[in-house]
Amino acid sequence: MIRFLNVRLTWLVAFITLQTAVTFLSPLSPLSNQVVCAQDAEPAEEKPTADGKEEAGPGQADAEQEARRELQRELARLRNREMRPRREINIFSPLDLPTPNDARSAIGLPGPGYWQQQADYRMEVTLDDQADTLVGRETITYTNNSPTPLPYLWLNLEQNLFRSDSDGSKFTPRASRFNNIGEFEGGYTIEFVRIGGQELNLEVFDTVGRVMLPNSIEPRGGQVQLEVGWKFNIPSYGADRMGIQFVEQGKIYEMAQWFPSVCKFDDVNGWNNLPYLGQGEFYTDFGTYDVKITAPRGHVVCATGVLQNPTEVLTPAQQERLNQAKQSAKTVMIRTQEEVGTPAGSPEGEGPLTWHFKAEKVRTFAWTASQATIWDAAGITWDDGSTVLCQSVYPKESLQTWPESTQMLRHSVLLYSDQWFRYPYPTVTNVSGVCGGMEYPMVLFCSDDFSKAGLFAVTSHELGHSWFPMIVNTDERRYPWMDEGFNTFINFYDRFDVYNADINGQPLASRDENGPPSGRGRGNSTLVNQPIALPADQLRPDRLGRLAYFKPGNGMRLLREVILGPERFDPAFKLYIREWAFKSPQPADFFRCMENATGMNLAWFWRGWFLEDNLCDQAITSVTTGRDAESVRVQIANKQEMVMPVFLRVEFEDKTTKDVELPVYVWYYTNLWSADVPTEGKSVAKVTLDPRRNIPDADRSNNTWNAPKADKTDQPEKAEGESGGDKPGANDGGGDDDDRR
Ligand SMILES: [Zn+2]
Repeated sequence: MIRFLNVRLTWLVAFITLQTAVTFLSPLSPLSNQVVCAQDAEPAEEKPTADGKEEAGPGQADAEQEARRELQRELARLRNREMRPRREINIFSPLDLPTPNDARSAIGLPGPGYWQQQADYRMEVTLDDQADTLVGRETITYTNNSPTPLPYLWLNLEQNLFRSDSDGSKFTPRASRFNNIGEFEGGYTIEFVRIGGQELNLEVFDTVGRVMLPNSIEPRGGQVQLEVGWKFNIPSYGADRMGIQFVEQGKIYEMAQWFPSVCKFDDVNGWNNLPYLGQGEFYTDFGTYDVKITAPRGHVVCATGVLQNPTEVLTPAQQERLNQAKQSAKTVMIRTQEEVGTPAGSPEGEGPLTWHFKAEKVRTFAWTASQATIWDAAGITWDDGSTVLCQSVYPKESLQTWPESTQMLRHSVLLYSDQWFRYPYPTVTNVSGVCGGMEYPMVLFCSDDFSKAGLFAVTSHELGHSWFPMIVNTDERRYPWMDEGFNTFINFYDRFDVYNADINGQPLASRDENGPPSGRGRGNSTLVNQPIALPADQLRPDRLGRLAYFKPGNGMRLLREVILGPERFDPAFKLYIREWAFKSPQPADFFRCMENATGMNLAWFWRGWFLEDNLCDQAITSVTTGRDAESVRVQIANKQEMVMPVFLRVEFEDKTTKDVELPVYVWYYTNLWSADVPTEGKSVAKVTLDPRRNIPDADRSNNTWNAPKADKTDQPEKAEGESGGDKPGANDGGGDDDDRR
């Protein structure tokens, strides 16, 4: 039979450390059809062990009695939490979200009044590869679609991060990843700012600048054309976002966050002009780009968008190979290692060449130029005949791994397109250079400092950013989890899909012993001491990986695989991507979209996982006879603030098992729940909470209950196969397991 859990001192200690928790006024949970659930209306009765015998000496018995009484007091506290909320809220309370409006609907989708600004750029820039400078002229056509007249514009001046006296230089630890390493003085020299020939004053405040306009830009379609002239010294290490890689055959320039751009103006914050301090990436409007890049002859230039003038900048052989590559699933060499640095590597003639690119519906523009790069490409053709040109540029130093880069790109473009939303752009280029890993529209910067598995992981990740935040445009400085976290989530499935069995092929069902769900579980079941939902620059640098990437990524897996199931989750998340593609959702939009489309109130999950840093710890507190002899009652405690559904496995003596799931609602108004599990008369050998390690349980030592070993004196050995007659609750004190067999 099932006997009371013998109280151990460790239990007592564990319970004494319980935190005051939450109580709720909510309807009763639905009943599982397999399991009768009940709030513990009565205390687990104080009973002697089932056979009525003390198993220890008198002094120890007293101690156990006292410990048992203390446990009962603690259980009573758990059961009847004071009806006082933790603060003014509890884990299940509705989130304090902004009221839905015409622009952002109650179901978390763009409303009929949604608007966003448009910023279109025409630029002509010249790279000096001797002085390492860039000189540029740009015309920004800015369209004010908002209902608000705009008397001034804010510009991003991100190169100013690389001034030695910038806020970022002071705020970001010297020689850290997002600082500018070495002795270098960067920043813009602004040569002019004009509208219609009229010179305007640009007031510079660190990495942003304000231009007061002669006339406000009219709302709902008013336009202004701003001309800006500028130059800057190119940092060799630009906060791991841009810079110069020095290789044997020359330099590889990676250019990003390089031109003055208009800050995003939106319906939520007005001007999004948070400074560029380092850790936070960027948030800008969509626009079209028409960019002419003049670079020394011999350089290969790849960029956001489609090359407009291949006949002017490529050799006839390169043009032919490039056309071939578009139609080829196999990688085609465009510029071979042998051609680099020779006349065959670039068109005949003297002087620099101007590469002309155009791109549409992108939130910025990045590019690379180098005389040292090998160039290869392959294509993807969609059903409608449109193509994606997947390209890689890398120096000979990267030959060990990078010749596979283009196929890695193809694999991941196809997988993400198939799983979530079709890749909408005509090109993508992976660049081997100084940046460890950074993403821009149609351009990825990845270092060559990787094994093949490492290159696949970083390529898959940077490409995944095409969806978050290049297509679904979120505020990377305020909400890094909405791009890094969502991207990490989709990366899991790309890595489970076999690109190369040696690199990949990790089964989806695998669970990480140290922190489920599988893979990089750090931070799931331990306190991180900061919530996920903080602006990027407010995250401790040593917590960035956990809080921006893995905890939100794993949280999305929890939601998909454990809490909702893919069939409930996937249509909702695809809807979020599709409806917000080329628009800018806020966290509230995401929360609402997922709750409405899945039909589940998830406030507890958003609060516990994203908005606060809460622990989850479920524990088995007792296993007793159920309401009748055909069932067993398992009492479960929720010992911390985070709640999760309950997964129980009852193992019987005959080695059969019964799995039971309880909805998260069992924690609505109590932290102590009892489930009656039918046993069909079989003896219970073991009960385990969360046997598949689905949930982020902080303490697994309290997740298992083993039936006490039989007392030989009144527990006759039974014949094999007769345990069916050994019913829980049968008053013989026996029938429980004897694992000495
Ligand atoms: Zn990332």
